[in-house]
Amino acid sequence: MSRIHSSGTKPEIRLRRALWHLGFRYRVNDPRLPGKPDIVFGRYRTVVFVHGCFWHGHQGCSLYTVPKTNVEFWVSKVERNKVRDSAVWRRLEALGWKVVVVWECQLKKAVFEETVLRVKDEIVSGGKEYRERIALARQLREKSRKEQAERKARNKYFSQEIKAKYSR
Ligand SMILES: [Zn+2]
Repeated sequence: MSRIHSSGTKPEIRLRRALWHLGFRYRVNDPRLPGKPDIVFGRYRTVVFVHGCFWHGHQGCSLYTVPKTNVEFWVSKVERNKVRDSAVWRRLEALGWKVVVVWECQLKKAVFEETVLRVKDEIVSGGKEYRERIALARQLREKSRKEQAERKARNKYFSQEIKAKYSR
């Protein structure tokens, strides 16, 4: 269990290094965010979790095999982790973060490069999505400000009209 919040397994460190070489800068295990994400790309509003396939229950993965003894114990333990993971993802998403999950099996040598490229794309598109969301929110705010100003101007005009009409 201590693995989950440790400061990084070897494959995780390799992933971080590869992303650093691609020019990405990040914080590690940021305690200010829900779930203390493993790697945080603030500029891109994207977080990466590197998950152990067993502890986090990677469905259909060969690394996720439940031990033959104490099956119920292991299954319920992994299920609890999965429930907690998805609660954390929802909280992060509600705060406007994009969540990327990298499974430990995706960091094996044969598929490592491919995973790095996928994560890179996700980080960049996370930044793009975030900027688009921010721009949309700004547009909506400006639109409502404009409408409010127009309403005010209209009301002023009518009240002047009424005044003019009845003050004669
Ligand atoms: Zn896996």
